[in-house]
Amino acid sequence: MSTSILGTKLSVNGSIILAGFCCLLMFITANALMSNNGKKEVRIDNLHYLVDSAHDIDISQALNFETKDWQTNVTDIYSPAMSDDIHWLKFTIQGREALGPKLLEIDNPFLNRVNVWFVQKNKILSHLSTGDEQPFSERPILHENFVFSVPATTGTIDVYVSAYSTGSIRLPIYLWPEKMYLSYETKSAITMGVFIGLMLAMGICSLFCFVATKALPFLIYSGYVGSLVLTITTLFGLTFRYLWPESTLFQQDSLALFASCLLCLSTIFCDQLLKVKVYSAQLSKLLRVIATIFIIGAGVSFFIPLPLFIDAFLSMTLVSGLVVFLTGIWLWKKGSTVAHYYTLTWAMLYLLGLAVVLDNLNIVSFSLSPTHFLMLGATIETIFLALILIISHNKQKQAELIEQTELLDIERQTRNTEKEVLEQQKTATEELEYKVQERTLELEITLRELSEKNQELEKKNTLDSLTGIRNRSYFDKKYQAELRRSKREQTQLSIVMLDIDHFKSVNDIHGHLMGDECIKVVANILKQSLKRLSDDVCRYGGEEFAMILPSTDLEGALALVEKIRIEISNTEIVLNEASVKVTISAGIGTATAEVTMNEKSILALADQQLYKAKNAGRNQTIGSYLS
Ligand code: GH3
Ligand code: MG
Ligand code: MG
Repeated sequence: MSTSILGTKLSVNGSIILAGFCCLLMFITANALMSNNGKKEVRIDNLHYLVDSAHDIDISQALNFETKDWQTNVTDIYSPAMSDDIHWLKFTIQGREALGPKLLEIDNPFLNRVNVWFVQKNKILSHLSTGDEQPFSERPILHENFVFSVPATTGTIDVYVSAYSTGSIRLPIYLWPEKMYLSYETKSAITMGVFIGLMLAMGICSLFCFVATKALPFLIYSGYVGSLVLTITTLFGLTFRYLWPESTLFQQDSLALFASCLLCLSTIFCDQLLKVKVYSAQLSKLLRVIATIFIIGAGVSFFIPLPLFIDAFLSMTLVSGLVVFLTGIWLWKKGSTVAHYYTLTWAMLYLLGLAVVLDNLNIVSFSLSPTHFLMLGATIETIFLALILIISHNKQKQAELIEQTELLDIERQTRNTEKEVLEQQKTATEELEYKVQERTLELEITLRELSEKNQELEKKNTLDSLTGIRNRSYFDKKYQAELRRSKREQTQLSIVMLDIDHFKSVNDIHGHLMGDECIKVVANILKQSLKRLSDDVCRYGGEEFAMILPSTDLEGALALVEKIRIEISNTEIVLNEASVKVTISAGIGTATAEVTMNEKSILALADQQLYKAKNAGRNQTIGSYLS
């Protein structure tokens, strides 16, 4: 980055040197172009003048004035202060010579009224009347300056000129051999053409730059160049000649208008180009106030007397020039590179001004007229300002680029951080999800284990600890379920109640251990006897057992129970070398369950039948259908 800035700085300095070199070349060329046919050698300087304040002298009076009535002009050019007077000039020229026809030129296109009389031996040869109060087409010779043909006569001719102007009354008068004048004019036209072309090109380029970049200084610059061209061409009388030859009223104020616009825009341009507001808001405000005064000046120039306007305008120009120059120096000190070049440009312009002053004081001699100096200065200024404008724009763009790159970097960093955070979040979420899954799985396993344990526990709860068959609580549930099934499917349900006979005496004779053993053996035989999956046997309590036989009629139940009873009665129960045989009594209750039926009725029936079997002598089975 730093090398590219260095590169720019070097190329900027190179451009400044190149532009400076070009300007120097332009100055030398312009000077050389004008020097061969410089106007000084055809200038008339043996002038006599008189001032007609009352506006009451006419040519006949002027012809009769004696030599002592006329005053001698000692300077090169008759250039009195602005006033409301009519100025009379008298001088003598040589008529037609070997060089051919001659032309008299008054080089001030702003004279309101000009009268020229060519007189020989007190006899008026010709009288020509013109001025910019008349339409351009009425001029004796169509030229931006006032040009008159000298009568084709030999010998000396006295020339009387009366001039009136609301503005500058400067009267440079030249007597040209016609051929020399044509040659001078051609060169002059080329110079002017190059100048206007160059300026317009710069202005249009800048306008394009504005369209492309939307940067305001480009627009102000092209406005500045436009008003500069208009000011200078008006100063040369070219605008009146080519743009508004009939508008004599506008011609009177056009210069004031354009010059005001020019200074207004150049002040605003300084403010914008140097970014004065960044350094001092007050200074920027002052520049804007000056610019506004110029704008107002442009407006009021149409309504106030020209001399008054010119005085005010020149003072304001001096003030604004000084403020702009000092602003440049101040900002230069503050470290603004643009201000550095800007101040140098202004310094160069002041040097040109100094050259004009030195030329005027005859200390040095240039072939250029002050207006040509002005043109040259304007050209140099315009070129340099364009260069500075481009430099400033480039610098701004570079600064913006750096800022943008930095912003992009920050944005990239932010995005990276965001990405990292997101990734961390994602990892954390994944970890969390994994952990949750793990925990859920563990929980599921635990739950399953718990459920298995529960089932086991439930099963254990339904088992009788001594015999290992189902207990009373299981029987109650199973009985309910089978009752419902019987109701639903309308199948016969048989309930068997069994009781070991005279069990008390077994306990009493053989002890409780033998009693327990008997209960176990009976339970085992009962369990083994049941073949259907749906059949169940439970220890109902003590030495009593209950059997549930779904879908079994009374006959089937009787057959099964009888088989069991016989098997038990034949079984010898052995414990610790003692043996015993027991018998059982059984009661069977069979029914197809009804909706309206008492739930306990089958069980009660079985119990009754058991009671009957006991009473009938034990070791037998009695069954009955529920009526
Ligand atoms: P019956 O023929 O009328 O049934 O006479 P029984 O002696 O068998 O009837 P009873 O109801 O009078 O006596 C039952 C006895 O069974 C009383 C009790 O001591 C005994 N007994 C009940 N449960 C157990 C047990 O789990 N183990 C042992 N060893 N004896 C039990
Ligand atoms: Mg009993
Ligand atoms: Mg018993």
